[in-house]
Amino acid sequence: MVLPKFSLDAEILGQERMAEAVYRMTVHCPEIAEVAQPGNFVQMRLLGGEIFLRRPFGIADADAGKGTLTFMYRVLGRGTAAFSCLRPGERVNVLGPLGKGFCMDVERPLIVGGGMGLSPLLFYAKSMGKKADVLMGGKHASEMFWTKLFELYAREIYVTTDDGSMGTKGFAVSLLPELLETKNYDAVMACGPDIMMQKTAELSKAAGVPCQVSLEKRMACGLGACLSCSIDTAGGMRKKVCKDGPVFWAEEVFL
Ligand SMILES: Cc1cc2nc3c(=O)[nH]c(=O)nc-3n(C[C@H](O)[C@H](O)[C@H](O)COP(=O)(O)OP(=O)(O)OC[C@H]3O[C@@H](n4cnc5c(N)ncnc54)[C@H](O)[C@@H]3O)c2cc1C
Repeated sequence: MVLPKFSLDAEILGQERMAEAVYRMTVHCPEIAEVAQPGNFVQMRLLGGEIFLRRPFGIADADAGKGTLTFMYRVLGRGTAAFSCLRPGERVNVLGPLGKGFCMDVERPLIVGGGMGLSPLLFYAKSMGKKADVLMGGKHASEMFWTKLFELYAREIYVTTDDGSMGTKGFAVSLLPELLETKNYDAVMACGPDIMMQKTAELSKAAGVPCQVSLEKRMACGLGACLSCSIDTAGGMRKKVCKDGPVFWAEEVFL
């Protein structure tokens, strides 16, 4: 389905610090909230100032009733630092919804996310209409505010942290073989660091469970025109992460 796209100046309704350098921004943007699908993203631009290029962010929530969009983002460089300084009442330009989202036609998905990759998966979990199991990994307990956000939509939440400060010590994928073997999932939906998605795809394939991955590539236009986010695919064709993805079946792409 081709979604309509909007480029709108949206008022910031909320900007909260969730953890060290991690923020949640909510904007009023009814046109995009009405049509956005889980896995879609937006390209956000600052109004004024020196930073002209848009930055891509996954949609963590779209509430058509309230007309709001929510994003979770980590401050990495100049663009995200500038977004984090904006306050409610100020505006940003939002272009979206962009890209192809997650397959919704599954019954018992396992959601696998690491770090900021959990953001688009939150919208997916909410939109599923039934509770799904969630496997999430992070560096430290202080970054695992995600458990509270997923609580409403999750059946079971399995947590790992690199240092063992919350849940099981280690990486999320270390729990995956047992979950895949014992829980009868019919799909795995993954977003996170490349290595996590590689392992998740490998283990899902070995268990015979179809897997979707949401990829992150540096991109400029977000509309399929500039080709900066092109990737090779297993079928031999080049595809654009912004337009053909960011969500792909894992077997389609080289991870
Ligand atoms: C489809 C898509 C969805 C995304 N969703 C989210 C999200 O929900 N939350 C979130 O925090 N981030 C998300 N990102 C990554 C986010 O867009 C970048 O972190 C942001 O653009 C960095 O901008 P900056 O100006 O702060 O950093 P820059 O000054 O541009 O770069 C700072 C550092 O960030 C790295 N970086 C820049 N762009 C990307 C990128 N696209 N992917 C990975 N690393 C990058 C650079 O290599 C550099 O090390 C997403 C990226 C894509 C492609």
